[in-house]
Amino acid sequence: MASLMETNSPHYRTCNLCEAICGIEIEVGPFQRLNIRGDKDDPFSRGYICPKAVALQDIHYDKDRLKHPVRRTARGWQRIGWDEAFTEVTQNLKRIRAQYGCNSLATYLGNPTVHNYEALLFAPGFIRSLHTRNRFSATSVDQLAHHLAAFLMFGHQLLLPVPDVDRTEFFLILGANPAVSNGSMMTAPGMARRLKGIRERSGKVVLIDPRQNETARLASEHLFIRPGTDVLLLLALLHVVFEERLTRVNSFTKNVGIVADLVAQFSPEKVAPITRIDADRIRGLAREFAGAKSAVCYGRIGLSTQEFGGVCQWLINVLNIVTGNLDRPGGAMFPLPAFDPVSAPESVAPRGSFARWHSRVRKLPEFSGELPVAVLAEEILTEGEGQIKALVTLAGNPVLSTPNGRVLDRALANLDFMVSIDFYINETTRHAHIILPPTNSLERGHYDLALHLLAVRNTTKYSQPLFKPDDDTRHDWEILAELQTRMSTNGAFGSLLRGVRNKFTKQFFGPDRILDLGLRFGPYGAGLKPSTKGLTLRKLKQAPHGIDLGPLTSCLPARLRTADKCIQLAPEILVKDLERVKLKFLETTAADSNGHLLLIGRRQLRSNNSWLHNSERMVKGATRCTILMNPDDAADRDLLSGQDVLVRSRVGEIVLPVEVSEEMMPGVVSIPHGWGHDRSGSRLEVAQQHAGASINDLTDNHAIDALCGTAAFNGTPVTVIRA
Ligand code: SF4
Repeated sequence: MASLMETNSPHYRTCNLCEAICGIEIEVGPFQRLNIRGDKDDPFSRGYICPKAVALQDIHYDKDRLKHPVRRTARGWQRIGWDEAFTEVTQNLKRIRAQYGCNSLATYLGNPTVHNYEALLFAPGFIRSLHTRNRFSATSVDQLAHHLAAFLMFGHQLLLPVPDVDRTEFFLILGANPAVSNGSMMTAPGMARRLKGIRERSGKVVLIDPRQNETARLASEHLFIRPGTDVLLLLALLHVVFEERLTRVNSFTKNVGIVADLVAQFSPEKVAPITRIDADRIRGLAREFAGAKSAVCYGRIGLSTQEFGGVCQWLINVLNIVTGNLDRPGGAMFPLPAFDPVSAPESVAPRGSFARWHSRVRKLPEFSGELPVAVLAEEILTEGEGQIKALVTLAGNPVLSTPNGRVLDRALANLDFMVSIDFYINETTRHAHIILPPTNSLERGHYDLALHLLAVRNTTKYSQPLFKPDDDTRHDWEILAELQTRMSTNGAFGSLLRGVRNKFTKQFFGPDRILDLGLRFGPYGAGLKPSTKGLTLRKLKQAPHGIDLGPLTSCLPARLRTADKCIQLAPEILVKDLERVKLKFLETTAADSNGHLLLIGRRQLRSNNSWLHNSERMVKGATRCTILMNPDDAADRDLLSGQDVLVRSRVGEIVLPVEVSEEMMPGVVSIPHGWGHDRSGSRLEVAQQHAGASINDLTDNHAIDALCGTAAFNGTPVTVIRA
């Protein structure tokens, strides 16, 4: 495969593997070896990379990576041509749509889509061409609660406040491990350095998590909390802030009094026995937070994916707002990216929507046109009008990444037709009838459309392709555009129209043209003038390390997208959902775990969800797929580190080794996600040798945040015995 690079001339780009968007420098060495280092001149990451970046080459050179379409047959996977594949896919989708109606088609977008601007720009058009309401993505097993709170409070699902970590004096972290994630929903490469920076300027970092994780080692203080009770801690912190009149609220925040009334009954003394955090410490935390020169509260996956995720993300915003820490340096701030979807017209980047329709079987609400993926299996398996008969997946592996993966596994085998746009035959795509493999990240340009919206500093960067793809390959956007055109046209005339439309799209409306327009009309853009000032794609391409656009700046109320340009502090939907919190914790004894251990997930530095386990260098060494358990819980069960244990939940059971560790809170166990590569039929040779077990064979598709349908992964009750 030819390199686009001049020999000896390094190639600079952004690592697209996770949210941190680190700058990397690549040199092509002998024997297809890439030397990948951190790019010291990247204005954002300043040379930082994690061990995963080096694995970019393992994906590129992976012998299991598909480079041409394949069809599943009784004799195995058979190579087919692109035209034949497109014809077969669209014929089947049209046939099923004609027979069973539009909602018999469904789509699922996996997490890598967010790291691929071409797919982000072209997937919506293709999905619209299907006319189905059965759209799913990884959002509802991840950050949906953040979007919901932003939509209801600030008027736009993408107006997401991020911690200004480089200037804060008090960083309160709940249910997160930014030292490993490098800041999920808070793009912050080199997070360990940033956390140390807070303490070096005499600031404080407090972590509250059921596990004393890698971030705890960098924090000033760590407190255990019982999984799923963070909502009570947040209510109690607010209780103290209002009770002791520690508030500092701006003039454009509405309904502060409603919140003050709501939190009145959640005193620290009342929530302490449930959260297992001492009441005096909660009072002290509230005072320290409100009294700090600047402070920011941040909660991530441990809060976003639990029974009260929507309310938790709302209350985090409330805490930042009422203590005067929203939209000020060192608090929670709104980035202003060069390509700014928040300022784009509604038709290009919708503000969001909630509960316009509901899922057929369980009646869970849509958010921004998508249904929660926790209902996907039942929508396939339950007969009746609107039953899903065909599925299109794009860069996703929901069998390993969504709750009760085993039931979804069975459901996928029942589909009339499935097509996957993916370059791996993984635990999900092995069910596809046709797989359409796109190019990989080193073969295409890269721009972070979504992640600059979450970055702790405003920067912008475009990466050129490193390698020229083989002739008979397609980029994601080309596959999506072709499918969209074919789904919208019929017959001989349609074929003619298709040719014209494809040429027109390629020439005038390819991804780079759209990106250029977005940059030109963005906040730093040149507009249509051939000016030397202002940003264009051409100018960005001349800055291979990226361009620094400065620290985050205050932008409210101008940037709010609410009709009255005010922050809605007490949205009715969220206020109403507090009733569930009261019912669960204050009016019943359901908070007891009935002798079960509570299961939480954990993120690992050398894993990236389910999709880096086919890299030998990422999986070698000691087994990482273990269940962490507190020594007291292990002693109660007569267990020693290294022994295999059987873990059982309401929906399934798995076997894996136990690791006894003081870092776990008593009564809580932890398993990393993304493992479980032992299903037959996938083609991931290395991953299968290091299969591990899937935590999502234990998580329950009926355990959800009832407000928005997000999977409640955290706090799954399990039993553990020696295997
Ligand atoms: S943290 Fe690692 S995986 Fe994530 S972007 Fe940076 S180098 Fe890539």
